[in-house]
Formats: sequence, structure tokens, C-alpha cells
Amino acid sequence: MTQALGALADRLAGQVIRPGDERYEEARRVHNAMVDVRPAAIVRCATADDVVEVVRVAAEKGMDLAVRGGGHSVPGFGTAEGAIVADLSPMQSVDVDDAQRTATAGGGTTWGRFNDVTAAHGLATTGGIISTTGIGGLTLGGGIGYLCRAHGLSCDNLLSARVVTADGSLITADENEYADLFWALRGGGGNFGVVTEFTFRVHPVTTVYGGPMFFELSDGAAVLKYFRDFIRTAPREYGGFPAFQIAPPLPFVPENRVGEPFVAVVSCWTGPVEEGERLIEGFRAVARPVAEHIGEMPYAALNSAFDGLVPPGLQHYWKAAYVRELTDEAIAVHMEYGPKVPTVNSTVHLYPIDGAVHDVPADATAFGHRDANFAPVIAGMWPDPADNERNTRWVRDYYAAIAPHSEAGGYVNFASPDDYDKVADNYGANYRRLAEVKRRYDPDNLFHLNQNIRPLPVSSPRGSAT
Ligand SMILES: Cc1cc2nc3c(=O)[nH]c(=O)nc-3n(C[C@H](O)[C@H](O)[C@H](O)COP(=O)(O)OP(=O)(O)OC[C@H]3O[C@@H](n4cnc5c(N)ncnc54)[C@H](O)[C@@H]3O)c2cc1C
Repeated sequence: MTQALGALADRLAGQVIRPGDERYEEARRVHNAMVDVRPAAIVRCATADDVVEVVRVAAEKGMDLAVRGGGHSVPGFGTAEGAIVADLSPMQSVDVDDAQRTATAGGGTTWGRFNDVTAAHGLATTGGIISTTGIGGLTLGGGIGYLCRAHGLSCDNLLSARVVTADGSLITADENEYADLFWALRGGGGNFGVVTEFTFRVHPVTTVYGGPMFFELSDGAAVLKYFRDFIRTAPREYGGFPAFQIAPPLPFVPENRVGEPFVAVVSCWTGPVEEGERLIEGFRAVARPVAEHIGEMPYAALNSAFDGLVPPGLQHYWKAAYVRELTDEAIAVHMEYGPKVPTVNSTVHLYPIDGAVHDVPADATAFGHRDANFAPVIAGMWPDPADNERNTRWVRDYYAAIAPHSEAGGYVNFASPDDYDKVADNYGANYRRLAEVKRRYDPDNLFHLNQNIRPLPVSSPRGSAT
């Protein structure tokens, strides 16, 4: 193994970092500090050819292969004990084609970098709400963010992908070439290969109108019910979400309310400002906000506005659901558990996934549950490992209470390591087709460090993949 890794280092444009290397401690870390493992090597891939080399070595030597984009996976899929890690972080080039309205980005690009480059062209596509998250994992799992009601999920904006498959081939998948693989990449997670380059459709988006509002818990149920009814007919340019959040020490929060839990609404409006003002005024008519920071700002600024709440090094434990109808009963459950949000870093977001997300037929991409209207996430994040028991219990209890009001699966990108048994439910009717594509492109399950879709056995009777 040592020999193989040494020979690999000689063939690469990037670097191989192994235990003993002074960069190893930093290089082995992922965003979730709960994941404390020691891979055999972290390969900082600089080119697609580097990725090909790593995939081939892992396959030949039978090593576990972890693929890391932005490193934000809550279960820590971007690393593993004894594994070889294909770390794509050096691959962050972003090129915009103004005429075609497309942007092509390296597989390790973060949304912050992507947004900064496309913003200079007055363009954007749906990404996550935190700028340090990778476009890789987020897009491959679906991609929920401020722009998804207007422009669909991140994966709905994917036009093509350069992919290194399990046999070490570098291919381009799109609607015409390797269409089955392209279908699976749009929601199926990192199961099908390493994407070295993503090409997205981008849209004219410059400044947005919005920001957070904090409401008293006593007004919480009314605000949540208003949001549910409002979003049914809200113009697609509205891309906000309700949340439970402890008020951080920010200038717009009254000092004596810092540290208290609130029901929050975070708004992002990409239409004419006057109409946005009118829509957001609707929330103030339901209840007077305790604090708010609403105004015009660059889209990229809203996309990094909450980065400070989620620095690297926190402990993470999350649970995800899909909800068709946010019933009064479900809201009552949220009002019981949401206010118990234990730390300022933790949060609960109820993302609406209607609008343009529902324009795409349920079987057109692998993303499951386009019939859902909300994708709630209970995101437990806290600094001190001594609090792990208390915080994970809050997430688990909360999830158990909303489960009867939710679909069986949840959004793969918000799931935890103990959610592997939900993978089939996460994809619903698309799961079997995913297992077939997996058999075609990765029959030996080389790419298994993810919410894993097991390849359908060659001679299996129908249904055995589940
Ligand atoms: C603070 C925080 C905020 C978040 N906000 C959002 C949000 O707003 N919207 C949303 O939809 N999700 C959000 N997520 C969830 C996020 O989508 C997932 O954690 C996602 O997996 C992160 O992708 P990554 O590339 O950063 O992670 P990584 O840990 O690097 O990778 C995650 C998975 O994707 C695979 N992968 C990554 N890049 C590639 C690639 N180029 N080719 C093949 N496989 C790859 C990995 O192998 C792994 O299985 C958030 C997560 C965190 C921690």
C-alpha cells in the first residue's frame, strides 16, 4: 500500500498527504468535528486526471475511497478510517459563459466561490444558504436554497457533468450522452462517480430583497400558519423559509433578547423591491417582529450572511423529513420542540420545495419526493462534545414527534449516519432505477461512502435491491 501511494504521488499534479506529514492533521478534518477518523491518505486532486489516478488505485488495491467536495456532509462522507480520500478542494475554477447563460465549476468548488464569480456577471443558480458548502455534494443530493422556488433545485439546473466512473473512465454525462447516469447524478448523491466539473444553467440575479425577522414564540404558531398559507400562492421569486433560532448577538437584535429562542422567517425576494416590501409587510401584519434585518443586498451576501453561525469544528447531528401538508397538528409539534433549540448554532428550517421544483416531473431526475411541499431539517450543531448526548436527543425526539406528520423518507443531504435504513424511502419510486444505474456504473460499489444505493444484483429477482 505504501508503495502504491508513493507511486501515485509521482504521477499526480496534486499532493498526497499521509500520516506524519505536517499538513495531515488539518487535511484529515471535515466540517463535522464529530467525525474524527484517520484516512490512509488525503489526495489533493488538482486535475481530472488526478481523480482518475486515485479512483484506479482505490479500485485496484481494494481501498475504501472517500470523495470530498466541500466536506460538509454531516455523516462525514468526505473521509473514512484507513481510506484514500479524493479531496477535490483544489478544483475550484468557475467559468461563466454569458451568451449561453451557463457556468462551469470544478468539483470541489464552494457556493461562496461560485456565487462570487457568477455575481460579477449578474448571474446565479440555486445553491445552499451557507457559502462554505460544496457545490458537489449539495448538487448531487438535490440542492435546496433561496432560488429553488424560482429556478428549481440545484440539480435541476445541472446541464452536464464530467464524471470519473468506477472503472476510471472520464466521461461527460448530459441529457443525450450517458443519459441514465445523468439522471442518477441529479439527486442520487455521490453514488455514481466523481464529478470533476459541473455545468449549470445560471439566471439573472443581482441584488435581492430580504433577510431575517424574529418573532415572539407566543406568535410562533400564527406565523407558521401564515407562512404555510402564504407560500401556497406566493410568487416564485419569493424563496424564504420559517425557522426556529436562538437570537445571536447581532446589532439589530435588542441586547436583552440575545440568546432567546424565536420563530424566525428568513426571506429572499428576487422580484421588484416594492412587491417584496408588500409581501414581507404581510408577516408584520401577523405579528410585530422583535428584531429584523430586512433590506436590499447582493444575493451572494445573503448566501454568506449566516456562515458565522456554522464555523468548522462544531459537532453535527441532523434529521430530515419531507412534508406534503404542514397541518395545524404538525405546527403544534414544531411549537413544542422548536423552542427547545439548544444552542445558537442549532436550527430548524422548514424549506418550501414547491414552485419550480414541482415543474420537473417526479421521474425526470433521481431526486425523490417532488410531491412534498416542505423539506424540514432539524440541524443540531454545538461546540462542546460533552453536550453530544443532550443535543442528539433533542434532534431525535423532535424527529420522532414530526415523523407521523411526514413522509417516510427525508432529503438525503440532511440525513445522519444512522439514517442508512431510510435510503430507499428517501428516493421513493426512483430507488429501483437508481439501483439499476448503480449496477451499470459501479457494480462493485466502489463509491459506497455516501447514503449508499446498493447495486442491483445481476440476476436478482425484482425488488431485491430494497
Ligand atoms: C452548514 C451546512 C449548511 C447546509 N446548507 C444546505 C442548504 O442550504 N441546502 C442544501 O441542499 N443542503 C445544505 N447542506 C447539506 C449539504 O447539501 C450536504 O452536507 C452536502 O453533502 C455537502 O456537500 P459537500 O460537497 O460540502 O460535502 P462532502 O462532505 O464533501 O460530500 C458529501 C457527499 O457528496 C459526495 N461528493 C461531494 N463532491 C462530490 C463530487 N464532486 N463528485 C462526486 N461526489 C461528490 C461525497 O462523496 C459525499 O458522499 C448544508 C450542510 C451544512 C453542514
